[in-house]
Amino acid sequence: MINENAKTILSVRNLHASVEGTEILKGVDFEVRAGEIHALMGLNGSGKSTFSKVIAGHPDYKITAGEVVFQGQDLLGLEPHERANAGVFLAFQYPLEIPGVSNRDFLRVAYNAHRKANGAEEIDVFDFDDLVEERSQIVKMDISFLDRNVNEGFSGGEKKRNEILQMALLTPTLAILDETDSGLDIDALKTVSDGVNQLSQPENATVLITHYQRLLNYIVPDYVHVMAQGRIVKTGGKELAQELESRGYDWIVAEEAVV
Ligand code: ADP
Ligand code: MG
Repeated sequence: MINENAKTILSVRNLHASVEGTEILKGVDFEVRAGEIHALMGLNGSGKSTFSKVIAGHPDYKITAGEVVFQGQDLLGLEPHERANAGVFLAFQYPLEIPGVSNRDFLRVAYNAHRKANGAEEIDVFDFDDLVEERSQIVKMDISFLDRNVNEGFSGGEKKRNEILQMALLTPTLAILDETDSGLDIDALKTVSDGVNQLSQPENATVLITHYQRLLNYIVPDYVHVMAQGRIVKTGGKELAQELESRGYDWIVAEEAVV
């Protein structure tokens, strides 16, 4: 939902970032206000995941220029856990498995750390159990998954649901979902989309990274951005995603070359 007067949640200006000496992001400008859903699209290798990891504070990426302001705060000056505590959440394209740690314990520790950092009291095991079982319904996740090790042996779709369950617990101000649709069958896609739609509120914002229009039939974005070679080269409304579906990306890259 676009409200021009809503407060800015994320403001990215001329962001440049490198990994192992290679520049991947080459001047990204990106602005997100409260209540908005943005889709970030683009071919493989265009820098979408890099952008999400840079926002989350992944240590492999070196910021060489630009600024990122999150709710009035210089995000680049914060450690990854401080960014998470401040309300930034990244659902990974490839969620990690954590053998030997139960999903329930992992989620409780993450949830309580988040509360503590925000000056709230930790909740006890029993209250957490009630909460996590209730939130599991948002992604229609069977509660037996809570007692398995984090993502271990989960199918691709189950891992993605588990990421959205984390999001449902942490209720971030800015959620970046990196290809949360990939590997999902149509039922899981609908379930995950319903979950994201339920969690999308006037005071938060969501960035969906995808290269398929399919997801955007279920989660309707306010803005669609196309990334190519480390920059956002085109921005439009939801109809831009449909245009990309029918015309591909070449015309945008060609348009860009003319400018
Ligand atoms: P996308 O998510 O849009 O598919 P990525 O952000 O994953 O793109 O990758 C952008 C480019 O950065 C690719 O060419 C990729 O090979 C390169 N890249 C990403 N991470 C690394 C890394 N750790 N080392 C070297 N190159 C990398
Ligand atoms: Mg990617």
